[in-house]
Amino acid sequence: MFATDQRDLRTPRKHTAVRTVVFYVIFASLWIYFSDTLLAWFLSDPDQLTQAQTFKNGFFVAVTATLLYLYLSHCLQVQRNCEEAIEEEQDKTQQDIRERFKQLSTLFDSMNAVVYVADFTTYELLYVNQFTEQFFGQDWRGRKCYQYLQEGINHPCDFCTNSQLIINGEPGNPVVWEFLNTKNNRWYECIDNAIRWTDGRLVRLEVAQDITERKELEKIKDDLLSTMSHEMRTPLTAISGFAELLLNEPEVPEQQRRHVEIIYNEAEKLTELINRFLDVRRLKFDRARINYEYLSVLDLMEKAKNGCRDCKAHHHIKIECQADIQVYGNRQELTQAITQLLENACRYSPESGRISLTAQSSNRETSICVADQGLGIPKHELESIFNPFHRIDTGNTRSTGGVGLGLCLAKEVVTLHGGKMQVESISGQGSTFTIVLPKPVDRNNTLNVNTNDARQL
Ligand code: ADP
Repeated sequence: MFATDQRDLRTPRKHTAVRTVVFYVIFASLWIYFSDTLLAWFLSDPDQLTQAQTFKNGFFVAVTATLLYLYLSHCLQVQRNCEEAIEEEQDKTQQDIRERFKQLSTLFDSMNAVVYVADFTTYELLYVNQFTEQFFGQDWRGRKCYQYLQEGINHPCDFCTNSQLIINGEPGNPVVWEFLNTKNNRWYECIDNAIRWTDGRLVRLEVAQDITERKELEKIKDDLLSTMSHEMRTPLTAISGFAELLLNEPEVPEQQRRHVEIIYNEAEKLTELINRFLDVRRLKFDRARINYEYLSVLDLMEKAKNGCRDCKAHHHIKIECQADIQVYGNRQELTQAITQLLENACRYSPESGRISLTAQSSNRETSICVADQGLGIPKHELESIFNPFHRIDTGNTRSTGGVGLGLCLAKEVVTLHGGKMQVESISGQGSTFTIVLPKPVDRNNTLNVNTNDARQL
């Protein structure tokens, strides 16, 4: 900014100098030419002419020297004024920056959240708010974020979000994640952002909100539901087992058989609900990132096709995938997610049977698409279908007998793999669900994106 100002101020002075020199050359040439001609015209005596020319030259030198002196003084004065103006402007800007920084610090200091700024390349801490100082100490200056915020770590954290925050050298989207702080044993929800620091470089701003109470409540609620679910499983297994036995009895009268069939179907539905609920819970809380391996997408697709329970004879599932496409993840979870999409495609395509399962791979990601030509999903429902227990309330979907946890589970799996789930649909024409997974080479970075997985700081 100051460099531009100085350039702007220097340019007109340069033009004035050039103009003055040109004016001087023209004026001096004219003066010399015409004064000599005039003198020669008026004075015919050579002695008088020589004297007059000497006087004229002296006069010329005196006048031009005075003009030069005045001009140089003027230039110096202008330069002094400019420098003073620039200095004043610099002072004012720095004061402005200090003032704004003070305002922001006051704001951040009054927040009950950990706020800090760290350099992207050196990890050096540039700012820490008072709340953070209270927990982690005041000796943060000159230290790296991982040394200050963690116990006994001397290298950047495995789950550092730096690589996800900058896209093509520019700040990207914020990354939201949760972690358990081992220093104070509290849970935090972190929002990481790439921002430009006062000197123009890119830095990481992290705002971490204490969510321990919420986590504890969630855990109590979840433990309760989980215990109840486990307890209900045993009687339910007995109910469906005995109902199945009765159904296989040839002597059961027709009307009682229908009643037993209802008992069996409802018990199965409840069992599915409980199993799905326990699956979601396991993914959210108990899951360790184990059993990750390189997986053939074609293999996963074929397994999903074979495991699809809702596929009827009129459904034609067509697989299109190159044999060498690979993803990095948990085999069982990814198969489960694809199977879920496939089962939904079959379930919600009661008439039309064409379903395609395709995979594509680019430099950065692998997409697995499940497309059907079934009922489709209304536009306003596209977001909410991934919410737990959300079902689209139409006569058709009710009759399909799901529990509204399948998509939630599939999305959770994909998110935990650092990917995203996309859906496109036209009501009455069909839907396309796409699982987008990062390429295996990115796994160290991308597996940490936007997960609700527990991390330790
Ligand atoms: P459900 O057990 O009800 O199938 P899901 O979570 O799998 O639960 O799906 C939620 C809702 O999304 C379903 O009730 C259904 O209305 C809608 N849905 C999911 N997949 C499809 C699809 N391929 N075509 C049309 N609707 C779908």
